[in-house]
Amino acid sequence: MDHFDAIAELDRQSVLHPFTYLKGHASGEGPVPVIIEGAKGVRIRDARGHELIDGFAGLYCVNIGYGRTEVAEAIARQAYKLAYYHSYAGHTTEELARLSDRLLRMAPGRMSKVFYGLSGSDANETQAKLVWYYNNLRGKPAKKKIIARERGYHGCSVIAGSMTGMNFYHDHMDLPVSGILRTGVPHHYWGAMPGETEQEFSQRRADELEALILGEGPGTVGAFIAEPVLGTGGIIPPPAGYWAAIQAVLRRYDVLLIADEVICGFGRVGTPFGSHLYGIEPDLISVAKGLTSAYIPLSACLVGEKVYAVIEEATDRVGPFSHGYTYSGHPIGAAAANAALDIVEREDLAGKAATRGAYLLQRLTQEFQQSPIVGEIRGVGMLAAIEFVADRAHKTRFDPALKVGPRISQAARERGLIARAMPHGDILGFAPPLVMNEGEIDEMVDITRAALRQVT
Ligand code: PLP
Repeated sequence: MDHFDAIAELDRQSVLHPFTYLKGHASGEGPVPVIIEGAKGVRIRDARGHELIDGFAGLYCVNIGYGRTEVAEAIARQAYKLAYYHSYAGHTTEELARLSDRLLRMAPGRMSKVFYGLSGSDANETQAKLVWYYNNLRGKPAKKKIIARERGYHGCSVIAGSMTGMNFYHDHMDLPVSGILRTGVPHHYWGAMPGETEQEFSQRRADELEALILGEGPGTVGAFIAEPVLGTGGIIPPPAGYWAAIQAVLRRYDVLLIADEVICGFGRVGTPFGSHLYGIEPDLISVAKGLTSAYIPLSACLVGEKVYAVIEEATDRVGPFSHGYTYSGHPIGAAAANAALDIVEREDLAGKAATRGAYLLQRLTQEFQQSPIVGEIRGVGMLAAIEFVADRAHKTRFDPALKVGPRISQAARERGLIARAMPHGDILGFAPPLVMNEGEIDEMVDITRAALRQVT
């Protein structure tokens, strides 16, 4: 047993890996632990020296690419200067104040303040509490239910996990908790009726949302949460007219809109936020991932004027805002975010995501549209997906037992590309670092073609 085998064995015996078949993993029958040793640009390298193009930017998060020393140096500088102080009771740091001002200037809508956490899940957990707090403080204690979408992904903590709309994140874990309502996924390809245009389909989804709110009673519905582009549920850009129709309903019934920008934020869809692209005017915004490009954990809730004004006004009556973490506003996280966002802005990574994302979509369409097992190719910015079907003409899905999506993803991996088999349906997802260039996109497409050929 060499050094790396020994490390793999230690891992097998000791780490509870997320989203992993645990029994096989522990016994060594399942996937062998893959030790990732290093990374540069868009490529990661395992301990055996194999390189892989990371077509998924980790988990849609390493937007600036790997090995950016300027972020590492900013982290080190802050650690030397002041590794930690909390942000309770008005304590702050220069990096935190600068980051917060910057986020408010970048953000869509009328945002007032920024609250910090460490993950997308905890940001969404905070959003739910803000909705409840806001409605309690303004004398509407019944207005608490939160509507989330089927196949939306908002994290896996208790409330965020409940807002996530895929059963396998709930099963055997006593989720969802009560008070979470579900509305339909806006996927025109599968959901539209024969001959229904995108506009008509969007309006139907909005009508369903309205019917749900009316059925429950508008006085009981506090918020609607959604990703501008639905991510983990299948990388599904909204159909034309969707966001305008949805927002009209929310405004009519005084329902807050939480934009979960954890994937879309900071350039991924070709604009600073997904909300900019689709004309979304959220009341609350969650960000994480691209905020630091995952160089260190950090998330944030941007709190809109409407909500913040109520919270601030009530302080004399109810006392301090009693929510926060030891690590809220961690100075090293703030320093990392400022350095990562400097790169996003200086290198115009939103602009690059728009042009290179268009190139990626065009290449995928060119190469795979004619394949008899390709149902839909879709994407926006540096988010793209190929959805595989058993019969294109009749739009029938593959038997899930055939694991077509996972097998294509695995074949790509063996050829040096990480493209993710999305957890719902036979979908191959791409979300590369925003710094990926056209030559690297061509490499991804070439490997995908070879993988497809092998499996079909
Ligand atoms: N929201 C969205 C849209 C996400 O894609 C994710 C993670 O993929 C989360 C929330 C949860 O973030 P985290 O895994 O950092 O808790």
